[in-house]
Amino acid sequence: TQARGSGNSVALFKGGLDRECARRMALMSELRGAIERDELMLWCQPKLQVKSGRVCGAEALVRWKHPRLGMVSPGDFIKHAENTGLITPLTYWMLDAALRQLYAWHEQGEWQPLSINLSARDLHDPKLLERVEGALATWGAEPGWIEFELTESALMLDPTAALETLSRLKRLELRLAIDDYGTGYSSLAYLRQLPVDTLKIDQSFVHGMQRDQGCEAIVHSTIELAHSLGLSVIAEGVEDQATLTRLDALACDMAQGYCISRPLPAEEFKGWWMQKARH
Ligand code: C2E
Ligand code: MG
Ligand code: MG
Ligand code: MG
Repeated sequence: TQARGSGNSVALFKGGLDRECARRMALMSELRGAIERDELMLWCQPKLQVKSGRVCGAEALVRWKHPRLGMVSPGDFIKHAENTGLITPLTYWMLDAALRQLYAWHEQGEWQPLSINLSARDLHDPKLLERVEGALATWGAEPGWIEFELTESALMLDPTAALETLSRLKRLELRLAIDDYGTGYSSLAYLRQLPVDTLKIDQSFVHGMQRDQGCEAIVHSTIELAHSLGLSVIAEGVEDQATLTRLDALACDMAQGYCISRPLPAEEFKGWWMQKARH
């Protein structure tokens, strides 16, 4: 902070921020058009069953193929989409893209389930249920094609409304997971009421497991908690083999992370799982 406070570095630092801010604002004004021009892409990050090493699906992650800037990650636009309401068409786009992909895989004879991220704002979308039902019908979805992930903090913004929306999604027999679990201050009393199938342990705890006893203890107790409530549990952000081995010892059901695979364009994911099945 002292370096920033002295002489030229202030101007440099501020200049950097202004440029970043300007870049971001330009990008945001283009987002609506991006959805209309079909510049979004479906990427998939594989999930493994820890014990068997088998592929058990993938998380659907949006990427924006920007004509000038190249691939833009959701960290650069999801927040803005949530604040402006653009998340609603983005969620609809993703729902359709994921089901279209599943339909194509199904036609080819083999498919893997995809998990779609919902935002806090989606929980208040009065058309969400209708939209989901419509999309499932349009693509002739089979049970198990898609799952939804909701972050614990999104649920906690309005726990009562969240419970209501989740219950209605559950009536469509969809699987539900709580994302970034452990960072959102939910109570166990609330968790017990939610019609969810899976807890997804936040990557901050998974990253810290190897060097921090506290993180390992949180991961361990979350796995036990999930199992004692009859839920399955997945660790996200698994970056090395030692962590994967430890998760196996702790009886974690599933894992996702760079040491298994980075997110891949949907077509490459199919190649990846076929190749994995041969080994
Ligand atoms: P998330 O749902 O918690 O997804 C996991 C994020 O962690 C992904 O970032 C993934 O690429 C990254 N990741 C996976 N494995 C590792 C690892 O081993 N190490 C590290 N350091 N990172 C790992 P991504 O794709 O940039 O997405 C960021 C967030 O953006 C997601 O977090 C999710 O909250 C949001 N997001 C992505 N796609 C969508 C979407 O279609 N709709 C909504 N509403 N949100 C989305
Ligand atoms: Mg997620
Ligand atoms: Mg997550
Ligand atoms: Mg996360």
